[in-house]
Amino acid sequence: MHELAIALSLVDQLRRIAEREHATRITCVRIRVGPTSGVDGEALAFCFPMAAREYPSLEATQLQITTEPLQWLCLTCHKLFSEPSSEPVCPYCGALEHHLTGSDELTLESVELT
Ligand SMILES: [Zn+2]
Repeated sequence: MHELAIALSLVDQLRRIAEREHATRITCVRIRVGPTSGVDGEALAFCFPMAAREYPSLEATQLQITTEPLQWLCLTCHKLFSEPSSEPVCPYCGALEHHLTGSDELTLESVELT
């Protein structure tokens, strides 16, 4: 389970943030998942409580995961567009030849502490 490993490293990161900020609880965490990261947001949300269960500061943490849409670069008009399909049509010129772009990273966007 790839997502469990990610959840564990996320928990690790959050515990260090809580310690550094002298926070007793982390109430809310926002994460952005790049479309080509291969991370399943739902699976990550499912794994997070398991990874966090031993840490009281993370007991009631709300995890908000945003998965970014796939981004394509049109090879004809060189414009970027978002399209969830794996065989999109360029909305600007109708071309069918594109490059897949977009982030493959998992970004910790914000953390709310109390
Ligand atoms: Zn185009």
